[in-house]
Amino acid sequence: MTRAIFPGSFDPITNGHLDLIERALKMFDEVVVAVLNNAAKTPLFSIEERLDFIRKTIPSDRVVVANFEGLLVDFARECDATVIVRGLRAVSDFEYELQMAMMNRKLAPNLETVFLMPKTVYSYLSSRMVKEVARLGGDVACLIPELVHQALKAKFGTTSS
Ligand code: ADP
Repeated sequence: MTRAIFPGSFDPITNGHLDLIERALKMFDEVVVAVLNNAAKTPLFSIEERLDFIRKTIPSDRVVVANFEGLLVDFARECDATVIVRGLRAVSDFEYELQMAMMNRKLAPNLETVFLMPKTVYSYLSSRMVKEVARLGGDVACLIPELVHQALKAKFGTTSS
């Protein structure tokens, strides 16, 4: 039984994240979606909202949704996860991801990082971009789960579909 951990801010979850979780579920028995509660960042959505979006979007009993603070390797150990899943969208993701993977390997040599690539249509998609476009009234409906779309509309009062 292999449990993987998929960490991130998920502010908010997008179809790109969901694509990755589906791929991870084909490879691992369980996936812990670990939402980082980072006091240094000011997220658009609270930790409770972000967890709620993910829980309501992913019905699979093989997905556990949790939040964490501090070092990912410590939380992975607490969860008994042996694999970290991260996404690679473009070459621009690579340098930062490589640094993080190497540091995590230093801290926890038995924890392997695995990179997955999303469907091409999601390769330009990020939570940051979704928020920026939604704030300006652009239509991002096809890039995010419906409940996230509704929540963004409520936040920004946009009129798009
Ligand atoms: P972080 O703040 O840790 O980058 P994110 O929520 O932005 O958190 O991303 C979490 C993980 O999901 C990262 O590995 C990121 O590369 C991946 N990810 C985000 N958006 C996509 C996407 N559109 N396709 C594939 N992976 C993605």
